[in-house]
Amino acid sequence: MAPRTSLIRPTLLIFLASGVSAQGPRSAACANLTDLRLPDTTILSASHVSPLTSLNVSTPRSCQTQALVTNSFCRVRLIINTTSTSSLNAEAWLPDTWFGRFLGLGNGGLGGCIDYLDLDYGTTLHFATVGSDNGHDGEGGDVYLDHPEVINDFAFRGLHVETVIGKQIVQAYYGKPHAKSYYLGCSAGGRMGTQAALKYPEDFDGIVAGAPATNWNSLLGLFVTMAGIVGAPDAPSFIPPALWDVVANEILKQCDGLDGFSDEIITEPDSCDFKPEAIQCTAQTTTNCLSEPQLAVLRKVYQPLNGPDGELIFPRYDPGAEVDGGWQILLNGSVNAIAGDWYKYAIFNNSDYDFGNFNLDDIALANRLDPGGISTFNSDLSAFHTRGGKFITYHGRQDQYIPSGNSKRVYNLISQTMGLPNLDAFYRLFLIPGMGHCVGGRGASLFGQVSSLSNVVNASSHNVLLAVVDWVEKGVAPDTITGTGLNLLPRTHCRYPQKSVIKGLLGYVCEA
Ligand code: CA
Repeated sequence: MAPRTSLIRPTLLIFLASGVSAQGPRSAACANLTDLRLPDTTILSASHVSPLTSLNVSTPRSCQTQALVTNSFCRVRLIINTTSTSSLNAEAWLPDTWFGRFLGLGNGGLGGCIDYLDLDYGTTLHFATVGSDNGHDGEGGDVYLDHPEVINDFAFRGLHVETVIGKQIVQAYYGKPHAKSYYLGCSAGGRMGTQAALKYPEDFDGIVAGAPATNWNSLLGLFVTMAGIVGAPDAPSFIPPALWDVVANEILKQCDGLDGFSDEIITEPDSCDFKPEAIQCTAQTTTNCLSEPQLAVLRKVYQPLNGPDGELIFPRYDPGAEVDGGWQILLNGSVNAIAGDWYKYAIFNNSDYDFGNFNLDDIALANRLDPGGISTFNSDLSAFHTRGGKFITYHGRQDQYIPSGNSKRVYNLISQTMGLPNLDAFYRLFLIPGMGHCVGGRGASLFGQVSSLSNVVNASSHNVLLAVVDWVEKGVAPDTITGTGLNLLPRTHCRYPQKSVIKGLLGYVCEA
């Protein structure tokens, strides 16, 4: 394991050792923010919070009820009206020790959920951090029914408004504007960061957008299609969890060693041409094997989703996405809730929609309607590039939700659109072998990408958020990112299109 430098403990120790409360003046300045008048904004409360407090954060459609606080900060709760029929609930956490940086946060899934873990993470690293519910409360998509402005908040406007108002609160509290502005988010939050760079290129100087759910309508159409491929739990084609473990082991058997090292991590899944026939049931083998209808499923789920004329709708899932129960999320016999709600309420605007006949035409329809421009599949980042913005994206290579090929496809599209053979002057993509969706997996998947759960190492070499700060403020671009993992040596992660290859005693290195 790499040495872990905690930014938390020293601060605590200083307070404990000195026995002095420095919170009196801060507390008063914080409370004064309730008098702040901002456009379309109501400040609900402003109060100073001490470390190790457990905040009550429940809402009517609650995502969580308590949030544990690491640092000391001014907590501002607010509502911003975005139109006459839509609004955001937001929080600004303003740390006592501020390094002059603003941090905007995104959301995951269809959330609906202020990300308290990332608010805590941001303040721990001394960012003035702002997060919102992105225009609706809770994870469900029923709020989109007959509410196009709620969709607009979710698709593009919520993050922008949260950022504009959040920066004004920061200026009011500290008495000076922020020096630099950053964004952190993954999955749907990765899409939001990408959308910000496209639509509001002035909002952020540096963006960390993980596993972006770009080409959103096609991605969620893929989720629905996958449910149809595997079928219901009583269908002959359905693959139960125990047999997915058989599949996972066979894929490792066929492909783990392709990178030269049997470590249960497939470094380059594109090289894995999985042959499912190896685990087909025979007259002699009748257990821990798959039937012909189940094999037919396997032949489809590791293939790209193509349209009627062979055009690519979405890249294939990486072999390896099935490990550790990965497929039991998308292939559990029912339509994924995120995709189901999006298509039902935002695309068809019909709460009784039946997915029994869902097909490629429905994905095409979704892309034509593209509510709120949510697809985020525009590859012209020239405005963000011109204003000097820096963009870091990363993607796990056993992501069980969003195929990592999507991030490569987007990189290549931006490269073609902007006429740049290499985007690395402002846009870098890091592929993370053995990592699942945003976090987790058997690889070295801890590099500061989301909340302190992903490891708070106080070094830009090991922390992707600090890496984008160094890039923006010092002009030092991250050549590699070093991840750590449980029971693993640190591993260097390479930026696309470089490859991670084994070089004898050097271990994994990056090669063009
Ligand atoms: Ca391997």
